[in-house]
Amino acid sequence: MQQTNAIWIKDPLAILADGAERGIVVQNGRIVELVPNGGRPAMPAAAFEAGEHVVLPGLINTHHHFYQTLTRAMPAALGRELFPWLQALYPVWARLTPERLELAVTVAMSELLLSGCTTTTDHHYVFPPGLEQAIDIEVAVTRRLGLRALLTRGSMNRSQRDGGLPPDSVVQDEDTILADSARLVAEHHQRGEDAIVQIALAPCSPFSVTTSLMRATATLAEKLDVRLHTHLAETEDENRFCGEMHGCRPLDYLEQCGWLGARTWLAHGIHFDAPEMQRLGEAGITISHCACSNQLLASGCCPVCEMEAAGVGIGLGVDGSASNDASNLMQEVRTAFLVQRARYGVGRVSHKDALRWATKGSATCIGRPELGEISVGKMADLALFRLDELRFSGHGDPLAALVLCGAHRADRVMVGGRWVVVDGAIPDLDMADLIHRHGAAARAMQAG
Ligand code: ZN
Repeated sequence: MQQTNAIWIKDPLAILADGAERGIVVQNGRIVELVPNGGRPAMPAAAFEAGEHVVLPGLINTHHHFYQTLTRAMPAALGRELFPWLQALYPVWARLTPERLELAVTVAMSELLLSGCTTTTDHHYVFPPGLEQAIDIEVAVTRRLGLRALLTRGSMNRSQRDGGLPPDSVVQDEDTILADSARLVAEHHQRGEDAIVQIALAPCSPFSVTTSLMRATATLAEKLDVRLHTHLAETEDENRFCGEMHGCRPLDYLEQCGWLGARTWLAHGIHFDAPEMQRLGEAGITISHCACSNQLLASGCCPVCEMEAAGVGIGLGVDGSASNDASNLMQEVRTAFLVQRARYGVGRVSHKDALRWATKGSATCIGRPELGEISVGKMADLALFRLDELRFSGHGDPLAALVLCGAHRADRVMVGGRWVVVDGAIPDLDMADLIHRHGAAARAMQAG
């Protein structure tokens, strides 16, 4: 028989795909065949027995701030809404160093991987002196752990001196930001469907950067053909702030800055009215719904059903680990399901909707239609869960059980045909040592 590198993920307990009851065949990093009931693979393939696994497309995280794993559940920030919460945390984040960031990124990415995430974004916008290589550090960790990442070159150039929220020590000037953005795209951004590392441009929020930088960032993204990201419509405070500063609502301001186009995805998207949702849909803008973060900071609830009806794509994001405070994307699926079901009722939101947001929906947010779905030709990014924990005992429908019983840890994760999580662990990662060093770094940073 002819030798191939094909793997048959054989006879899964359940799989989020139609016509793949006997599993799928993976070869050269892609899904090449769905095997239906009663069928066998057309090509020779080594079997991976998946009889105890529920198989999902790898989950995709569309919003995070990895560095914030160093300030989880920080006493000074507890019990605050967004703006005062930010003001409590900025001085601590100003003490980020390359070593601390490297640990924070490793922790966040490991946590994501173990929750079934195969592609993540990160929004890094804090650049105190000495941390100019922040995104390069993130690229190195991404390559070491083996998941895909869309790393955004964040920015802030409006500090307290200019009426903004962040302290002067964490902002940079416009020329520095734009030059480094172009450098990062040139050095790290991959363009093929099998890309591991991509770069996007991402001012922190329209209120922490100048109008000039907002406009210049959109122009540069267009020129370099990369995606654009920022926070928008997270709180009512933001609407008031925008009214006072620019005399308009946040979406109008975004439009004035040249951001209303299909390369833009926005974090949160809570406080839009119906005509604004229509404009978002027509522009092809997508939203990263961050259900845990929105509840923790009491920011409100993203109206996902109205958004989808208006043609706005919805993905999921865990958001930074200081406002969630977990980086567990499978738990985020459950939270989004519960929050949206409470809002819209049982007839409009199912567990499959929540899984769709975290996979195909998130893939749309990051402009990667080759991800987020189990079908022929898509990249072989998969998350496999076992249902032999106490929390699943007595389950019926395996896919529903993942969401309803609270799955939180994948047993196996594959990225581009390669196993990056095996038996619930990341090969070659000393987890105890990582937790020890990351904890020490967090204590040192919080102590000042
Ligand atoms: Zn955020």
